[in-house]
Amino acid sequence: MEKILGIDLGTTNSAVAVIQNGTVTVLEDENGEKLIPSVVGISTKGKLLVGTEALRQYAASPESTVKSVKRKMGTDHKFHLNQRTFSALEISALILKKLKAQAEAALKEPIKKAVITVPAYFSDRQRQDTKQAGELAGLEVIRIINEPTAAALVYNFHADTSEKVLVFDLGGGTFDVSIVEIVGEVTEVLASHGNNMLGGDDFDRKLQNLLIQTFQKQHGVDLRNEPLAMARLERIAEQTKIHLSEYAFADVKEEFLSQKDQVPLHLSTQVDRDEFEELIEPLLKSTLQSIDRALQDAEFTENDIDRVVLAGGSTRIPLVRKLLKEHLGKPLYDEINPDLCVTMGAAYQAGILAGEPIDSILVDVTPYSLGVATIGFDLNGFVPNQFSVIIPRNTVVPVSRSEVYSNPLDNMEKILVDVYQGEQPTVDGNIHLGEIWIMDLPPAPAESLKIEVHFDFDVNGILNVTAESRDIDKKESLTISPSNSPLSAPQILKVQERLEELWETSKEEEQDGSSEQETTPTKKLLEEKIQLSPDQQDLYDRAQAILPTIDNEDEANDLKQLMQEYVQVIQSDNVEKIEQLTEELSDVLYYLEQ
Ligand code: AMP
Repeated sequence: MEKILGIDLGTTNSAVAVIQNGTVTVLEDENGEKLIPSVVGISTKGKLLVGTEALRQYAASPESTVKSVKRKMGTDHKFHLNQRTFSALEISALILKKLKAQAEAALKEPIKKAVITVPAYFSDRQRQDTKQAGELAGLEVIRIINEPTAAALVYNFHADTSEKVLVFDLGGGTFDVSIVEIVGEVTEVLASHGNNMLGGDDFDRKLQNLLIQTFQKQHGVDLRNEPLAMARLERIAEQTKIHLSEYAFADVKEEFLSQKDQVPLHLSTQVDRDEFEELIEPLLKSTLQSIDRALQDAEFTENDIDRVVLAGGSTRIPLVRKLLKEHLGKPLYDEINPDLCVTMGAAYQAGILAGEPIDSILVDVTPYSLGVATIGFDLNGFVPNQFSVIIPRNTVVPVSRSEVYSNPLDNMEKILVDVYQGEQPTVDGNIHLGEIWIMDLPPAPAESLKIEVHFDFDVNGILNVTAESRDIDKKESLTISPSNSPLSAPQILKVQERLEELWETSKEEEQDGSSEQETTPTKKLLEEKIQLSPDQQDLYDRAQAILPTIDNEDEANDLKQLMQEYVQVIQSDNVEKIEQLTEELSDVLYYLEQ
């Protein structure tokens, strides 16, 4: 049976799983890791870095590294990394390529197909971009499924025969809530709501700002103007946040964060959990509003819910749990690994599609209302930009619906069918998805032509629109897709080739340098913190090369210590100290190399 991958393309981390002999296996990378940082970078030498390596580079070269690309999906944003330019979907494609390669290495067979998860509240364009990213990575994306739905699918295997659950999925960049009814093997989503711009990244940013203010008070230096320090602070903020999920206080210490008058400046402070909670509480309160909205859409109250199923790394935050308990008064279920349950759900769905014997039926809904702009009338005359809903939100997918409209004015030469998604009564507050023009209309009085607008919303959450006027035998159609897409087949091939070329050269370079990397553990520290000049790098590499050959443990430790000091002092920009340590390291190497 052909294997189909289940992929969680997350904001912070991504993972890949597959069903083997009826059970789900999350596939590990070459280092035995199941979660791959969703980070892509280009090194100064032009080498492609994806995952852990890219995350390491982030602290030293944030400008050549992309994190949280998921938040840019569905936009035309361009990333410029060391003289190369990428779209968000190309960056996502590189992460998917890494996951594909990892799966192929683990399974020892080529893989061509995947199911990829997206936030339930992802827009049509964001879904299209995700699908195309898969294609650019050489994967046919046979299904896009919603993240909380994937989590619910896994939960079904742990549930009683009949349950109504609320899936609360708070990850690194996005938040979703779904109301799900489980009856036997059927997992039916009744309603979803969410926010594509809310997650752990926002909590990190709040903490980062707090640390910036503390540093400014301590040293009178504004770190906002120092990209390297900001990148380091981002990492410290996330570590502090994670620490505060377990402990009431976190000591924050970071040396050589900046310098003033050639004197290195260190950050040293303590953050307590109450302080952190105060910062994030307003953001978390907004998730409770989404819960109420989803409950209302499902025509439920909290009393109808049996359990709250937690998904996403940010649900480990104690305040999240406290607010959920207070708001819903229901038990929380966290026994499925919140980092991996979405991946596992994607794998189950992939297994079902591959024909694995899994008893499971999934019913999902559309997260948004879909419709067209129309012109209304009131006592004062025309009222433009009204939103006429064709598919209301939370309709079970796949769904096809039609509405008939007519020409509002006499003798119109063309008619615009303007497609939107959203919940506002006027289109101004909704998201524009695309447009179809029906051209060359014959002269006709107002309201005499009938135009049937047909919406097909498929199981991947992707919309096809047709506008047809039988009176005049005209039919136009549109697959809602990114404004810069769909890429034509030759364009896709071209981008695929470009990514493949980058991928292959990086692999070669990686192999060249791999043995060096394994024998030089402090290089990790180096890559995390700073970039060295060629001379400094040379000196450091000489030290690394000689380190494994030193038999005397004390001597080896002294050299390691000196190398670390060297790295730290370079970071401080203290020219005098750098010169002093360069000389010291050169002397030691001179002695050792004899
Ligand atoms: P996900 O998108 O599900 O992988 O979630 C990633 C987010 O969860 C990131 O923002 C992480 O910082 C956050 N996270 C992971 N573990 C914890 C923890 N123990 N406490 C707080 N946040 C966490």
